Amino acid sequence: MSVTLQFCGAAHTVTGSCFYFQSKAGRVLVDCGLFQGPKTVKALNYSAFPFRPADIDAVLLTHAHIDHSGLLPKLIREGYGGEIMATQATIDLCSCLLPDAGSIQESEVEMLNRRNAARGRAEVSPIYTQADAVASLKAFRPVAYQEWFEVIAGVRARYWNAGHLLGSASIEIEFAGEGDSGQPLRILASGDLGPDAKLLQPDPDGPSGLDYVISESTYGDRDRPPITPEARRQHLAAEIREAYAANGPILIPAFAVERTQELIIDIVDQMDRGTIPAAPIFLDSPLAIRATKVFRQHAGSFNSGIDVNRLLSSPHLRCTETVDESKAIAKLTGFHIIIAASGMCDAGRIRHHLKRWLWQRNATVLLSGFQAQGTLGRFLIEGAKSVRIQGDEIKVAARIRSFDEYSGHADGPELASWIAARRPVRRGLFLVHGEEASLAGLSDRIAERIIPAAEIFTPLLDDVYDLSAAEPKALDVARRRRLAPEAVVNLDWHNDMSKLILDINERIEAAADDRARGVIVRRLRRALD
Ligand SMILES: [Zn+2]
Repeated sequence: MSVTLQFCGAAHTVTGSCFYFQSKAGRVLVDCGLFQGPKTVKALNYSAFPFRPADIDAVLLTHAHIDHSGLLPKLIREGYGGEIMATQATIDLCSCLLPDAGSIQESEVEMLNRRNAARGRAEVSPIYTQADAVASLKAFRPVAYQEWFEVIAGVRARYWNAGHLLGSASIEIEFAGEGDSGQPLRILASGDLGPDAKLLQPDPDGPSGLDYVISESTYGDRDRPPITPEARRQHLAAEIREAYAANGPILIPAFAVERTQELIIDIVDQMDRGTIPAAPIFLDSPLAIRATKVFRQHAGSFNSGIDVNRLLSSPHLRCTETVDESKAIAKLTGFHIIIAASGMCDAGRIRHHLKRWLWQRNATVLLSGFQAQGTLGRFLIEGAKSVRIQGDEIKVAARIRSFDEYSGHADGPELASWIAARRPVRRGLFLVHGEEASLAGLSDRIAERIIPAAEIFTPLLDDVYDLSAAEPKALDVARRRRLAPEAVVNLDWHNDMSKLILDINERIEAAADDRARGVIVRRLRRALD
């Protein structure tokens, strides 16, 4: 009799949440996320799952974000025939997000195939299509917060509000008879955890008295100053007034789901109160427009005191669905507000607006969330003087502002107190879903003070742990690994390469004259040979 857990994603700097439990009762998957980040990690999306999809008996989904749900259509296309259990709000958001992810993959592969054809390379096919994603929606089954339900015979689960996103959950799972002296083995998967003082969500909740806790650690090394919704609104208003004073637009790259709606609610509220100048707010993202409708449908489920329905239907808000409508915005000058995806500027319509405005001094770019390493948003925050967008090098003259007060994630102290509230944690704590520094930061913060250091584990991708042993043991899995541990680094050579090219261009341009430029080029050439 044993229960094993394989970390198929969200392990040690690799994104894409996915946990695979095997027990005598059956096989249960928690999350099936798309891998994001460096190319070596993204390549995992195209390779085989480390399990047979047809063997899985049930899937539990923590929330709709693509790094948790984005490979579900592939799982079903490759043979999974069971149900995907999620809250109703998660299902409604997945109905927007998954088809969108399918269509992004189709168009990315189409572009790649055009380039491949020109180079005489073979065609590749998308991870899944929009049609696959739509078909996968039939497998979803709604579950309520706070109610136990049977996952498969011998395994039951209960969802807790994780306060991270509309519909988000931490999932408590019990394997009957697998714990100490015939008791159930009790496990809690945190999913992503929200911060305190989130505009629309309550603080994260959860049970206590567990054998194992699997906790996210995205911001484990951060210590954010405490913030109130009112202080955040005032800070946002100040940024908007400065952009207005510069007499240019303010571009806000934002995640389409929740961040966009939080921003709209606070901006509209300020305009209605007259604390910032009224101006059109262009919501230039078909996905964000659909997600906004889901937020209006679930208006009753948010923190009280906010009229979500009224604020999200404001006449200031202009939804630009079509490409023509989106292009028309580019003709505008003077102060206006553009909110578009993606939040890290690595895809979506925001890139057209950045190309149009980044080189202009009177424009403002307000980065409103976490920027992963290697993304355009991260390069901007780090002060890049020029960036590449759609093959063109664009100078950065716009005011780059970053504003992380709308974070969807708990910071280090909040994660630590969430973990503390789960005690007793009898056998072990797994830290997942974080970059190297976040995992180490969270581990340092809680070791001994909250959980004995020997009971804290930071698994690598594809590590398998035997959860039945009195102390969890990593099984020997070298043959199963999809990535060599040394390949799992934050930045891979593709990112280093683009940065190197930008640095070379910058040096050459900054040189005094053509003679000096020639010297740099000859030196580089010598280093290469
Ligand atoms: Zn999330």
